[in-house]
Amino acid sequence: MIKAPTRQIPGFYHRRVGDIVVTAISDGYLDAPLTVAYNLPKEEAEKILIDACRPPAPRISVNCFAVYSAGRLALIETGSGNTMGPTLGLMPQNLRAAGIDINDIDTVLLTHVHPDHSNGLTDEAGVARFPAAELVVNGNEVDHWHNDAAMAKANERQQVRYFQAARVALAPYHNRIRRIAEGEVFPGITAVPIPGHTPGHTAYLIASGSDSLFIWGDTVHIPEIQVARPEVTMEFDSDPQQAAATRLRIFDMAATDRLLIGGMHTHFPGFAHLVRAAGGYRLIQEPWSFEI
Ligand SMILES: [Zn+2]
Repeated sequence: MIKAPTRQIPGFYHRRVGDIVVTAISDGYLDAPLTVAYNLPKEEAEKILIDACRPPAPRISVNCFAVYSAGRLALIETGSGNTMGPTLGLMPQNLRAAGIDINDIDTVLLTHVHPDHSNGLTDEAGVARFPAAELVVNGNEVDHWHNDAAMAKANERQQVRYFQAARVALAPYHNRIRRIAEGEVFPGITAVPIPGHTPGHTAYLIASGSDSLFIWGDTVHIPEIQVARPEVTMEFDSDPQQAAATRLRIFDMAATDRLLIGGMHTHFPGFAHLVRAAGGYRLIQEPWSFEI
């Protein structure tokens, strides 16, 4: 008897950007309740999902990106570690499947410090997973999550899931954090501040020759909804108004400049273009390519 497969293939995908190779690494996905989306009546959100042939609980990919540049290797984002359930936390195994030795990563860059991006910095015992890496993160981000006054204003769930988790994730790296704001932070990678989702939310523009890739972090969490309706904010936006304004600014730039974008929450492997559509925008995933 021939047995049908029961496990999916590993989640990684290579994409060349000039002389740089970017490898999307899946950490898995999360099926989130629609209640995390604000600023849109539930019926309208449901209709968008139904029209897009999506289940009522939107599926949110969680992606990381390894960057091979100038003979060095960086990783943007670390996934969620073992903290967000069985459909997430796959970064280490997909990294291995992609042939990457974690000891070869000399720089870890974060778009921001949130559990699905930074909890993978440490293992179950709280030990740094990246023994050789310098940690690059916006200084406002480090300050915000260590600010006791800001933590006191947050609700209990936010205190535990965001503030305390951030402190645990960053602690083993305290003497090798490089606080950045903007400009080139790794060969071919430029940091671009996109505050709102969090105070230090940062995009990374990867450029080589005439090719570029704009890794836009959490500009979008639920692509079907927020691309069509950029005013939709998320429960976990630090400053929802600023997040929505930043999203509109990035959408305008991405569509006008026909930028290739890479998203932490666009469907894996996350490479896409954004075009204007009636009343909003439309995301067009890039087709699979055999050539790297
Ligand atoms: Zn996220």
